[in-house]
Amino acid sequence: MPELPDIVVYLEALSARVRGRALSGVRVSSPSVLRTFDPPYDAPAGSTVEDLHRVGKRIVFEFDPEMYMVIHLMVAGRLRWEPPRKPIPKKVGLAALDFDEGSLILTEQGTHKRAGIWLFSSWDGVAGLDRGGVEPLEASEAEFADVIRRENRTLKRALTDPRIFSGIGNSYSDEILWKAQLSPVKRTAQLTDDEVTRLRRAVIESLQEWTDRMRDELEGEWPKKVTAFRPDMAVHGKYGEACPRCGSPVQRIVYASNETNYCATCQTEGKLLADRSLSRLLKDDWPKTLEELEEA
Ligand SMILES: [Zn+2]
Repeated sequence: MPELPDIVVYLEALSARVRGRALSGVRVSSPSVLRTFDPPYDAPAGSTVEDLHRVGKRIVFEFDPEMYMVIHLMVAGRLRWEPPRKPIPKKVGLAALDFDEGSLILTEQGTHKRAGIWLFSSWDGVAGLDRGGVEPLEASEAEFADVIRRENRTLKRALTDPRIFSGIGNSYSDEILWKAQLSPVKRTAQLTDDEVTRLRRAVIESLQEWTDRMRDELEGEWPKKVTAFRPDMAVHGKYGEACPRCGSPVQRIVYASNETNYCATCQTEGKLLADRSLSRLLKDDWPKTLEELEEA
C-alpha cells in the first residue's frame, strides 16, 4: 500500500503538472470506483486545480470554484501520467482526469478493486474521511508519547493504525521498528520514555529518508515504481536475507494477507516471534530463539 513517502512524491509530481491548470474532463471506466454521487463525478470539469493536499494516505485535489476530489489508492491503486486523452487501459484502468497537458489515470492491479474516488463540495466532507491519526512528522514529542500510549497495543499495530498515526503502513512500520531496534510485538504500555524518544526519531528519520531518496531518484520524472517492496529496504520483504546491521537472517510473522519482518538479533534479543505458518509446519518443535533455529 502506498504510504506517506509514496503519497508525498505523488503529490509533488502532481503539483508540478496540474496545479493552476484547468481540468478538462473526467472519464470513469469502472463505476464502482465512485464512492459519492453528489456532486456528480464530472462536476469539477472546467475548474482549476487550486491546491493539492494529503490526508493520511489520501490525495486531495482542491478545485476552484470550491470542490474537492479525494483519491484513496488502497493497496494496489496507482497513478499514471499519460499523454492527453490516452484511453483508459482495460482491466486495470479505473478512471482518468484529463488536462490539456496530460491525463492522470488511476489504475488498480488484481480483481479485488478497492481504490476509491470521493467528491465533496466542502472541506467538511474531506475531513469526515480522516481517521484522526496524528501526522507523524508534525507531532511534538509530547503528542507522540501521548498518542502511542493511549491504547495498549503492539508497536506494529500502533504504528499502522490510521486512528493513531496518519500515513504509516506495513512496509515503513517494519523499517521504523528495525531502525529503532524495537520488537514489533512489544506493548506500547511497556515503552520507557527513552524508547518512545527512540521510536519517534526512527519514525521521522525513516519517513524523511525514504521521501528524500525517492524524490532524488525521480529527478522530476513521474513516480512509476511505487511499490511496498524496495530493494534498498533493511527488513521489509527481506525474509531470510542478511540484516544490514548485524548480518542475522531477517525473520517474519506471517498473517493472512501480509507479513511483518524483523531482525531477531537487533529487535527481540534473539527471540523468534510466533509465526503461524512456521509453527504449523514445525508443530511443537518450532524454535524459540535464533540459535535454536540455526541448529534446527
Ligand atoms: Zn540485525
